[in-house]
Amino acid sequence: MRRLAKAIDGLEEPAVEKIAKDQKDDPFQVLIATMLSAQTRDAVTASASDRLFRVARTPRTMAKLPASRIEKLIYPVSFYRNKAVHVRRTCEQILTRYAGRVPSTMETLLTLPGVGRKTANLVLILAHSSQDNICVDTHVHRIANRLGWVTSRTPDDTEQALYEVTRRRWWPVINLYLVTWGQNVCRPVYPLCPQCVLVDICPKVGVTRVGKPIKGESRK
Ligand code: SF4
Repeated sequence: MRRLAKAIDGLEEPAVEKIAKDQKDDPFQVLIATMLSAQTRDAVTASASDRLFRVARTPRTMAKLPASRIEKLIYPVSFYRNKAVHVRRTCEQILTRYAGRVPSTMETLLTLPGVGRKTANLVLILAHSSQDNICVDTHVHRIANRLGWVTSRTPDDTEQALYEVTRRRWWPVINLYLVTWGQNVCRPVYPLCPQCVLVDICPKVGVTRVGKPIKGESRK
């Protein structure tokens, strides 16, 4: 983790982290951006979030938008129709059940439509400053397995296993470090192992082919 902390310096941050910083960790915008980000490229998440937040930045104003308007604003994020419905229903529930505030516990966040553990953990970490959560998405799941930190089949299993094998002080930043690394170096296919800062300690579990080194670039 110490090596990764140095290595990600200067690399593009994941979209939701950037939105969280830009919006001063506003829990509502972190929640909505994270919902939009599922299975969607970062550039698409960033522009869709921007279009939506220009029109509505609070649960009250967003709940007033018809789902069809939200759909148009967030297109082309993956599953934009379902996500538009979930976003609207989530806004309504935040207003009716939580007095307009984004809940701050895992249990309550999971009651919101379309919110799973990944979204809930990221909201708790970025917007509620939790030190007790690890957010596992596909990048974290893949890299933790390649590194041999865990042997797990699903992101939820990986999350539970990581609580056992990682030091607590790293929990809030595991997602930031591994997602940034996964987008730039430990890519889903053809990871850039020869350029990786972890190549000497990584067992590369399940890696069968690596990408060609990019000339002039080193991540060591
Ligand atoms: S050495 Fe390869 S598999 Fe291991 S973390 Fe680095 S890029 Fe990923």
